[in-house]
Amino acid sequence: MIPVDFPLSILKADPNSAAAKRLSKDLRNPFYIGDRPGLTQTLGWVDAWATQPSVYAVAARNAQDVAAAVNFARDNNLRLVVKGGGHSYQGTSNAPNSLLIWTRHMHDIATHDGFVPQGCEHSMQPQPAVTLGAGTIWMQAYQAVSTKGGKYVQGGGCTTVGVAGLIQSGGFGSHSKRYGTAAGSLLESEVVTADGRIRVANACTNPDLFWALKGGGGGTFGVVSKMTLRLHDLPEFFGGANFIIKAASDDAYRRLLREFVNFYREHLFNDHWGEQAHVNPDNALEISMVHQGLSTEQAKQVWQPFLDWVGRSPRAYSLEKRPVIGSLPAQRMWDVQWWKDHWPEVAFPNTNRLIGLFDHVLAHVLQPIFEIDDRPGAGPNNAWWKGDAGQVGWFIWGYESLWLPESLLESDSQQRLADALFASSRYSSVGLHFNKGLAGAPPDAITAARDTAMNPAVLNAFALAIVADGQGPAYPGIPGQEPSVAEGRKAAGRIDKCIDQLRAVTGQTGAYVSESNYFEKGWQQAYWGSNYPRLAEIKKKYDPDGLFFVHNGVGSEQWSADGFTKL
Ligand SMILES: Cc1cc2nc3c(=O)[nH]c(=O)nc-3n(C[C@H](O)[C@H](O)[C@H](O)COP(=O)(O)OP(=O)(O)OC[C@H]3O[C@@H](n4cnc5c(N)ncnc54)[C@H](O)[C@@H]3O)c2cc1C
Repeated sequence: MIPVDFPLSILKADPNSAAAKRLSKDLRNPFYIGDRPGLTQTLGWVDAWATQPSVYAVAARNAQDVAAAVNFARDNNLRLVVKGGGHSYQGTSNAPNSLLIWTRHMHDIATHDGFVPQGCEHSMQPQPAVTLGAGTIWMQAYQAVSTKGGKYVQGGGCTTVGVAGLIQSGGFGSHSKRYGTAAGSLLESEVVTADGRIRVANACTNPDLFWALKGGGGGTFGVVSKMTLRLHDLPEFFGGANFIIKAASDDAYRRLLREFVNFYREHLFNDHWGEQAHVNPDNALEISMVHQGLSTEQAKQVWQPFLDWVGRSPRAYSLEKRPVIGSLPAQRMWDVQWWKDHWPEVAFPNTNRLIGLFDHVLAHVLQPIFEIDDRPGAGPNNAWWKGDAGQVGWFIWGYESLWLPESLLESDSQQRLADALFASSRYSSVGLHFNKGLAGAPPDAITAARDTAMNPAVLNAFALAIVADGQGPAYPGIPGQEPSVAEGRKAAGRIDKCIDQLRAVTGQTGAYVSESNYFEKGWQQAYWGSNYPRLAEIKKKYDPDGLFFVHNGVGSEQWSADGFTKL
């Protein structure tokens, strides 16, 4: 048990000191933030929350430590929070005047050639799997599974997101169109429930709790101490396509969007292609997509018809960023040393060579793809995608997500979808995250996701639309780094209007719990759809007194907004 300090205090107390200057730099480093029990990756949200430290933290090393902390919190009627990677946008891993269970140091990783969940000996075949301590971040998992082991585990895109938080919300990575959700790959979990018992949850033992942990939301049903996920064969290649097409007029942009929707349906709506297209307000369509299983030649061939169509109208369209389409050996994707050897810009970020193949990567092709933790003694693999860097220390202005049903890709709906995208882009940039909707995925990925607690809307969606804005690093009361409340409110208004244009054609499909509005209306339905009543029952069974509370989590209706008072 350790007292928790609040590193940001120094920025208020002594903003010109050397320590404050160093901290301002460190606040752009997700590994620094992750190493501090008193900080979170997202620092707050205008009119919603601002991060605050717990009074004490239990820096747990194993399930026994977690159980001791749970018993202590329950017996002393304490507000309890749980933090792994600390990436919650909704601020659900921090609370003032609370006891924190901090899993940062629980990152043991073990791979298995033939794993059988406990109690499933007669019903399940052994299969390759990996067991990850609850505090493992995805970079550590990919290093062990892919770089060293030559296999693949379905996790998240951002290297510093925690495994337990991501899996419990469903969890998508760049290649989810092929391998499904992270929750769909879960084989077993060890979890400490509110009664302090260390339980195993899988398809045969505590199956109801197991199901709830697969997408029912973090910090709600217990404290997970480790999770075992199915492994997949690694494809030969990962790769991507990245470019921006600018239209010369509104009419040309409308035609471009219509063409892209049709092109997506015909050529990209399959298990190879994930990640994003951005429909931007300045009439620019930004492609930053990622593929698996295609060589550079094959990937280029896929895009050629679309680029030809664009090229036929040089007065209407120009390429703002020249297309970068390519592949690399999949095993090297998270191999930081390999990137350093092959792309020295990673180590020497000021050279100007054209690089980059991936979405997180590709956000800026002329930039280095990774940022590196340069603190003395930092691990050699402490790296994060350049494309995620803008969210480190982020203070959110507004955030919305919405699943887009596959039916909108049918020929007689494509025009409606293109028109809605154009209309929404008048207010804000719309990100189409194709890997966060499972329509187009193989049957095994869909079947596994159907057996999770996520909103079933994910199964029929071809993409998740995300509209978001913010600034950072920022925090209230820090001179020069105050969140812009007025601008934030304006942005939130634009984001509302933007998503309304899409909702007009989708109806109330739902939002992804981990990437959604803090002020989500009807969140029970939006996050979990028809699964909510079953989740509420499981919550009552395993946590009848509501020891585990998170904002807009299952059962949170029964508590005051701060989680201190039962209503
Ligand atoms: C930059 C960035 C990129 C992202 N990219 C993706 C992405 O590619 N795909 C995607 O699906 N999502 C993505 N997300 C969303 C992310 O998956 C969720 O925010 C996730 O919940 C974060 O988990 P964490 O452990 O890092 O965060 P935390 O804030 O530590 O935890 C999130 C929630 O889970 C709970 N929790 C954490 N550990 C445990 C545990 N051991 N037992 C019980 N509850 C626990 C916490 O109490 C909290 O409520 C991204 C978020 C950010 C900020």
